[in-house]
Amino acid sequence: MALVEILRGLSVTARNMLRRPVTTQYPEQKKPTSPRYHGRHLLNRYEDGLEKCIGCELCAWACPADAIFVQGADNSPTARYSPGERYAIDYQISYARCIFCGLCIEACPTRALTMTTEYELARPSREALVFTKEMLLAPLQNGVKPPPHTDEEVRARGINYYGGPQATPVLASAEAARSNEEHPGTARRSH
Ligand code: SF4
Ligand code: SF4
Repeated sequence: MALVEILRGLSVTARNMLRRPVTTQYPEQKKPTSPRYHGRHLLNRYEDGLEKCIGCELCAWACPADAIFVQGADNSPTARYSPGERYAIDYQISYARCIFCGLCIEACPTRALTMTTEYELARPSREALVFTKEMLLAPLQNGVKPPPHTDEEVRARGINYYGGPQATPVLASAEAARSNEEHPGTARRSH
């Protein structure tokens, strides 16, 4: 009985000895990942260069590994980084902690945060595994002015950033929104 089991086991070895090797010569040869592979994160921009991130921290709260740090700040009429009231003045992801679960991108309300298929994230130290906002931000397209923009510039473009029936976004700054809460109807709208 034992001999039969041994022969059965050896037959597996013999079968695989005849197969072609499947060794991939990485890194010279890279196999394409699945299109939905969870790799390095990307902080996206709108076409006009404004950042999609509104500094809401939902991604950080959703992260089970506490890998994301976000610090929000107010946009102002003369210095606007995102179409919302706020933007992320600081944004970091630690790839020493990230488990690539994708919960952060599910939580993001503006699709600011997405994941690419880039998987070569090994770094020589824990410090180097902390990716800063500058490292994570999508590059600007040719000829696009980097933020900050003024409300006047943004309004002139007439872009509907958030979809829906409204053609032009209401770009009330946080300061104007607060003033409107304190004195309803007096806030200066920027459109
Ligand atoms: S992929 Fe998962 S672990 Fe990584 S930052 Fe996003 S929520 Fe956190
Ligand atoms: S990436 Fe998305 S969820 Fe995270 S702070 Fe920015 S807007 Fe909010």
